[in-house]
Amino acid sequence: NRTRRRSSTQVSLQVNEPQDDSPAAPQPATAIREGIEGAIGNTPLIRIKSLSDATGCDILAKAEFLNAAGNSPKDRVALSMIQMAEAEGFLTPNSGDKVYEGTVGSTGISLAAICRARGYTAHICMPDDVAIEKSDLLLRLGAVVERVRPASIVDKGQFVNMARARAQQHTSDPNQKGRGFFADQFENPANYLAHLHGTGREIFEQTGGQLDAFVAGAGTGGTISGCALYLKPRLPNMKVVLADPQGSGLYNKIKHGVMFSPTEKEGTRRRHQVDSIVEGIGVNRVTHNFEAGRELVDDAVKVTDDQAMMMARWLVERDGLFVGSSSAVNCVAAVKTALELGAGHRVVTILCDSGTRHLSKFWAKAGTIGGDDEMTMDGILNP
Ligand code: PMP
Repeated sequence: NRTRRRSSTQVSLQVNEPQDDSPAAPQPATAIREGIEGAIGNTPLIRIKSLSDATGCDILAKAEFLNAAGNSPKDRVALSMIQMAEAEGFLTPNSGDKVYEGTVGSTGISLAAICRARGYTAHICMPDDVAIEKSDLLLRLGAVVERVRPASIVDKGQFVNMARARAQQHTSDPNQKGRGFFADQFENPANYLAHLHGTGREIFEQTGGQLDAFVAGAGTGGTISGCALYLKPRLPNMKVVLADPQGSGLYNKIKHGVMFSPTEKEGTRRRHQVDSIVEGIGVNRVTHNFEAGRELVDDAVKVTDDQAMMMARWLVERDGLFVGSSSAVNCVAAVKTALELGAGHRVVTILCDSGTRHLSKFWAKAGTIGGDDEMTMDGILNP
C-alpha cells in the first residue's frame, strides 16, 4: 500500500543525526546553497526587543519565515517527508508520481515548491475558509488545489481524509501515470524528525544551550515534539510550553489530561475557523506527531484571538515585524511564560510565517483592532 503509514516501532529506527549532505546539516554563512532546498533550515534566531524590554527576559524567535521554499517551518517537514518517501521507494522523481496532502496551507505551499524542484505534482486539499492568498499561491506553484467545506476529522469529506482518498484513487487507477503518495503530515514521523534534527538542534546551538523555556503552538505537533525531543534530554530544567489558540483542545490535554469534557466526544468537533481566526495551530485530537513529544510538554498557555491580533499589531508597530496569526499566538504565550519565570530568563519561540499570507483574513481584522490606540502589554495580556 503506497499510501502507507509507519508504525511507531519503525520511528525508533530512524537515523538520529543528520547526514552531512542533508539540509539540516550546519552550513557556513558564506556557503552557496543548492537551490531552494539548500536554503531550508539554518534560520536566524532573532531577539525581539520590544518583548524583551517588556518582560525583562530575553525573548528570542526562530525566523522560520526565512525558509526559502514556502517561507515557513513546513519547508523542513515537506523536504523530510519527500526525502524519506524517496528513500523508501514510495516516490520517484519525474515518474508521474503525485504528492497528496491535506493542509491549511503552509505544508501544501512547501510541498508544492519542492515538488516543482524535484519533478512531482502536488495535489492539495484544504478547507475553503483558509485565507485565499494561500490557495492563490498554491495555484501559481503549479499545485492542483481542492478547497473543501470544513468538517470533523471523522467526516469523509474532511480535507485530510480527502487527500488520503485521492492518493489511494490515484494509485489504484490504471489510467493514471505514476503513483499517488499521501504525505500525511499529521501522522508521518518524518515531520517531527525534521524538527528534531533541524529546528531543535539549531536552537540548542544558537543559544549555546542557554534557554529556560521553549514555547510553540501545535497543528500537527511536529514542531513542539521535535524541538522538545532534541532540547529536553540536553536541558532537563528547560520548560516546554504549548501555545494554544481558543477553541483548541490541546490546552486541556496538557493541563488536565483530557481534551474534552465528558459530554463532548473526541473528533466530533471542528475547530478550524469555527472557533478561531488563527490558522495552522490548535486541533481537537492527538496526532502521532504531537504524541511523540507530549510527555515532554510541561505546561500550556491559552491565547485568545483578540490577544493574538493585538500582539500582531504590537510587533509591527514596535519591531517592524509583520507576522501571521500563529506567530502572534506564540509571542503572547512567550511573554506570559517569561513573566511567570521572572526577569533574567531566556525564552525561545517560533515565528512561523509572514503576515502577507494572512492579509485577507487575520490582518483584515488585526489591522483595526484597538482602533488608533497604541497597544500596551497590559492591554494584550488583560483584554
Ligand atoms: N503555524 C502555521 C502557519 C502552520 O501552518 C502550522 C502547521 N499547520 C503551525 C504553525 C504549527 O506547526 P506544527 O504542525 O509543527 O505543529
